[in-house]
Amino acid sequence: VTFSDLGISKSIIDTLLLKGYEYPTPIQVQTIPLFLKGESNIIGQAQTGTGKTAAFGVPIIQNITQKTGHVQAIVLTPTRELAIQVCDEMSSFGGIRNLTILPVFGGQPITIQLRALSQGADIIVGTPGRVIDLIHRKRLDLSHLSYFVLDEADEMLNMGFIDDIKEIIQHTNDEKRMLCFSATMPKPILGIAKKYMGDYEMVTV
Ligand code: AMP
Repeated sequence: VTFSDLGISKSIIDTLLLKGYEYPTPIQVQTIPLFLKGESNIIGQAQTGTGKTAAFGVPIIQNITQKTGHVQAIVLTPTRELAIQVCDEMSSFGGIRNLTILPVFGGQPITIQLRALSQGADIIVGTPGRVIDLIHRKRLDLSHLSYFVLDEADEMLNMGFIDDIKEIIQHTNDEKRMLCFSATMPKPILGIAKKYMGDYEMVTV
Protein backbone atom coordinates (compact mmCIF):
# COMPACT_ATOMS: atom_id res chain seq x y z
CA VAL A 1 0.00 0.00 0.00
CA THR A 2 1.28 3.49 -0.88
CA PHE A 3 0.23 6.96 0.21
CA SER A 4 -1.24 7.51 -3.22
CA ASP A 5 -3.49 4.43 -2.78
CA LEU A 6 -4.86 6.12 0.35
CA GLY A 7 -6.00 9.21 -1.56
CA ILE A 8 -3.21 11.58 -0.53
CA SER A 9 -2.45 14.33 -3.01
CA LYS A 10 0.78 14.38 -4.98
CA SER A 11 2.06 17.57 -3.36
CA ILE A 12 1.64 16.16 0.14
CA ILE A 13 3.19 12.82 -0.87
CA ASP A 14 6.22 14.79 -2.04
CA THR A 15 6.57 16.44 1.37
CA LEU A 16 6.17 13.03 3.07
CA LEU A 17 8.88 11.52 0.89
CA LEU A 18 11.18 14.42 1.78
CA LYS A 19 10.59 13.55 5.45
CA GLY A 20 11.56 9.96 4.69
CA TYR A 21 8.02 8.57 4.94
CA GLU A 22 7.99 6.10 2.05
CA TYR A 23 5.10 3.88 3.06
CA PRO A 24 2.14 4.49 5.34
CA THR A 25 2.06 2.80 8.74
CA PRO A 26 -0.89 0.50 9.65
CA ILE A 27 -2.82 3.20 11.56
CA GLN A 28 -2.36 5.51 8.57
CA VAL A 29 -3.54 2.80 6.15
CA GLN A 30 -6.72 2.37 8.17
CA THR A 31 -7.46 5.95 9.13
CA ILE A 32 -6.60 8.07 6.10
CA PRO A 33 -9.03 6.57 3.53
CA LEU A 34 -11.82 6.51 6.14
CA PHE A 35 -11.13 10.16 6.87
CA LEU A 36 -10.93 11.22 3.23
CA LYS A 37 -13.89 9.25 1.93
CA GLY A 38 -16.56 10.19 4.34
CA GLU A 39 -18.14 12.07 7.06
CA SER A 40 -17.68 9.67 9.93
CA ASN A 41 -16.24 10.37 13.32
CA ILE A 42 -13.27 8.13 14.05
CA ILE A 43 -11.85 6.50 17.14
CA GLY A 44 -8.35 5.14 16.74
CA GLN A 45 -6.80 2.80 19.24
CA ALA A 46 -3.08 3.32 18.72
CA GLN A 47 0.01 3.67 20.88
CA THR A 48 2.36 6.56 20.49
CA GLY A 49 5.07 5.80 17.94
CA THR A 50 2.65 4.20 15.47
CA GLY A 51 2.41 7.25 13.22
CA LYS A 52 -0.96 8.41 14.55
CA THR A 53 -0.06 12.09 14.17
CA ALA A 54 0.17 11.74 10.40
CA ALA A 55 -2.94 9.52 10.41
CA PHE A 56 -5.04 12.54 11.40
CA GLY A 57 -2.64 15.35 10.46
CA VAL A 58 -2.17 14.53 6.80
CA PRO A 59 -5.87 14.36 5.86
CA ILE A 60 -6.64 17.49 7.90
CA ILE A 61 -3.92 19.42 6.05
CA GLN A 62 -5.12 18.01 2.74
CA ASN A 63 -8.75 18.99 3.38
CA ILE A 64 -8.13 22.49 4.69
CA THR A 65 -7.58 24.12 1.34
CA GLN A 66 -7.97 27.76 2.21
CA LYS A 67 -7.95 30.25 5.01
CA THR A 68 -11.44 31.21 6.18
CA GLY A 69 -10.55 33.68 8.92
CA HIS A 70 -11.72 31.13 11.50
CA VAL A 71 -10.04 28.30 13.37
CA GLN A 72 -10.91 25.22 11.28
CA ALA A 73 -9.33 22.46 13.35
CA ILE A 74 -8.20 21.92 16.92
CA VAL A 75 -6.05 19.14 18.33
CA LEU A 76 -6.04 18.69 22.12
CA THR A 77 -2.97 17.02 23.63
CA PRO A 78 -2.12 16.11 27.23
CA THR A 79 1.26 17.91 27.39
CA ARG A 80 2.99 20.97 26.00
CA GLU A 81 5.73 18.75 24.57
CA LEU A 82 3.20 16.78 22.55
CA ALA A 83 1.44 19.99 21.45
CA ILE A 84 4.73 21.33 20.06
CA GLN A 85 5.56 18.00 18.44
CA VAL A 86 2.14 17.66 16.77
CA CYS A 87 2.28 21.27 15.65
CA ASP A 88 5.72 20.81 14.08
CA GLU A 89 4.70 17.57 12.41
CA MET A 90 1.48 19.02 10.97
CA SER A 91 3.32 22.13 9.79
CA SER A 92 5.76 19.91 7.91
CA PHE A 93 2.96 18.28 5.86
CA GLY A 94 1.79 21.54 4.36
CA GLY A 95 4.85 22.20 2.23
CA ILE A 96 4.63 25.70 0.80
CA ARG A 97 0.99 26.23 1.81
CA ASN A 98 0.72 29.01 4.30
CA LEU A 99 -1.68 27.58 6.87
CA THR A 100 -1.04 28.92 10.36
CA ILE A 101 -0.81 26.14 12.92
CA LEU A 102 -0.50 27.57 16.40
CA PRO A 103 0.50 25.72 19.57
CA VAL A 104 -1.07 26.99 22.82
CA PHE A 105 -0.11 25.56 26.20
CA GLY A 106 0.37 26.51 29.81
CA GLY A 107 3.80 27.56 31.00
CA GLN A 108 4.32 30.05 28.20
CA PRO A 109 3.22 33.63 28.90
CA ILE A 110 -0.34 33.94 27.62
CA THR A 111 0.45 37.35 26.08
CA ILE A 112 2.61 35.69 23.44
CA GLN A 113 -0.23 33.33 22.49
CA LEU A 114 -2.81 36.16 22.56
CA ARG A 115 -0.69 38.15 20.13
CA ALA A 116 -0.25 35.14 17.84
CA LEU A 117 -3.98 34.36 17.99
CA SER A 118 -4.89 37.91 17.03
CA GLN A 119 -2.97 37.39 13.77
CA GLY A 120 -5.36 34.54 12.94
CA ALA A 121 -4.80 30.79 13.14
CA ASP A 122 -6.20 28.06 10.90
CA ILE A 123 -5.34 25.18 13.21
CA ILE A 124 -4.79 25.16 16.99
CA VAL A 125 -2.84 22.47 18.82
CA GLY A 126 -3.12 22.89 22.55
CA THR A 127 -3.41 21.58 26.06
CA PRO A 128 -6.93 21.66 27.56
CA GLY A 129 -6.25 24.10 30.42
CA ARG A 130 -4.81 26.83 28.22
CA VAL A 131 -7.46 26.30 25.55
CA ILE A 132 -10.20 26.82 28.17
CA ASP A 133 -8.44 29.92 29.44
CA LEU A 134 -8.36 31.41 25.92
CA ILE A 135 -12.02 30.54 25.38
CA HIS A 136 -12.97 32.24 28.67
CA ARG A 137 -11.04 35.34 27.61
CA LYS A 138 -13.05 35.27 24.38
CA ARG A 139 -9.86 35.17 22.36
CA LEU A 140 -10.39 31.71 20.91
CA ASP A 141 -13.55 31.02 18.90
CA LEU A 142 -14.19 27.36 18.14
CA SER A 143 -17.61 27.81 16.53
CA HIS A 144 -16.46 27.22 12.94
CA LEU A 145 -14.56 23.96 13.28
CA SER A 146 -14.36 21.28 10.64
CA TYR A 147 -12.23 18.94 12.77
CA PHE A 148 -11.81 18.28 16.48
CA VAL A 149 -9.08 15.83 17.53
CA LEU A 150 -8.41 14.33 20.95
CA ASP A 151 -4.84 13.02 20.90
CA GLU A 152 -3.75 10.59 23.63
CA ALA A 153 -7.19 10.82 25.17
CA ASP A 154 -6.39 8.31 27.93
CA GLU A 155 -3.42 10.42 29.03
CA MET A 156 -5.61 13.52 29.14
CA LEU A 157 -8.03 11.55 31.28
CA ASN A 158 -5.23 10.45 33.63
CA MET A 159 -4.14 14.05 33.99
CA GLY A 160 -7.60 15.12 35.07
CA PHE A 161 -8.60 17.00 31.93
CA ILE A 162 -11.95 15.28 31.40
CA ASP A 163 -14.09 18.21 32.56
CA ASP A 164 -12.01 20.69 30.55
CA ILE A 165 -12.44 18.54 27.45
CA LYS A 166 -16.21 18.37 27.93
CA GLU A 167 -16.39 22.12 28.39
CA ILE A 168 -14.28 22.76 25.30
CA ILE A 169 -16.55 20.51 23.23
CA GLN A 170 -19.52 22.54 24.45
CA HIS A 171 -17.96 25.67 22.94
CA THR A 172 -17.73 24.10 19.48
CA ASN A 173 -20.18 23.96 16.59
CA ASP A 174 -22.21 20.77 16.04
CA GLU A 175 -21.27 20.23 12.41
CA LYS A 176 -17.67 19.12 12.76
CA ARG A 177 -15.97 15.76 12.59
CA MET A 178 -14.43 14.34 15.73
CA LEU A 179 -11.42 12.08 15.97
CA CYS A 180 -10.22 10.47 19.16
CA PHE A 181 -6.89 8.64 19.48
CA SER A 182 -6.02 6.69 22.58
CA ALA A 183 -3.70 3.82 23.47
CA THR A 184 -6.36 2.34 25.73
CA MET A 185 -10.14 2.68 25.74
CA PRO A 186 -11.27 3.11 29.36
CA LYS A 187 -14.96 3.68 30.07
CA PRO A 188 -14.82 7.50 30.37
CA ILE A 189 -13.32 7.74 26.87
CA LEU A 190 -16.04 5.53 25.44
CA GLY A 191 -18.47 7.70 27.42
CA ILE A 192 -17.22 10.83 25.65
CA ALA A 193 -17.48 8.99 22.35
CA LYS A 194 -21.05 7.97 23.05
CA LYS A 195 -22.11 11.38 24.28
CA TYR A 196 -20.40 13.61 21.73
CA MET A 197 -19.48 11.50 18.73
CA GLY A 198 -22.74 9.84 17.81
CA ASP A 199 -21.92 7.33 15.12
CA TYR A 200 -18.25 6.61 14.80
CA GLU A 201 -15.94 4.14 13.14
CA MET A 202 -13.28 2.43 15.17
CA VAL A 203 -9.80 1.59 13.93
CA THR A 204 -7.37 -0.53 15.89
CA VAL A 205 -3.73 -1.42 15.31
P1 AMP B 1 3.70 9.29 16.10
O1 AMP B 1 3.09 7.99 16.52
O2 AMP B 1 2.77 10.12 15.29
O3 AMP B 1 4.30 10.04 17.25
O4 AMP B 1 4.91 8.96 15.09
C1 AMP B 1 6.04 8.22 15.51
C2 AMP B 1 7.25 8.48 14.62
O5 AMP B 1 7.11 7.85 13.35
C3 AMP B 1 7.50 9.95 14.33
O6 AMP B 1 8.88 10.19 14.49
C4 AMP B 1 7.10 10.12 12.89
O7 AMP B 1 7.87 11.13 12.28
C5 AMP B 1 7.38 8.77 12.30
N1 AMP B 1 6.49 8.40 11.17
C6 AMP B 1 5.14 8.59 11.09
N2 AMP B 1 4.65 8.07 9.95
C7 AMP B 1 5.68 7.53 9.28
C8 AMP B 1 5.81 6.82 8.03
N3 AMP B 1 4.74 6.59 7.26
N4 AMP B 1 7.03 6.40 7.65
C9 AMP B 1 8.11 6.64 8.45
N5 AMP B 1 8.08 7.29 9.63
C10 AMP B 1 6.87 7.71 10.05
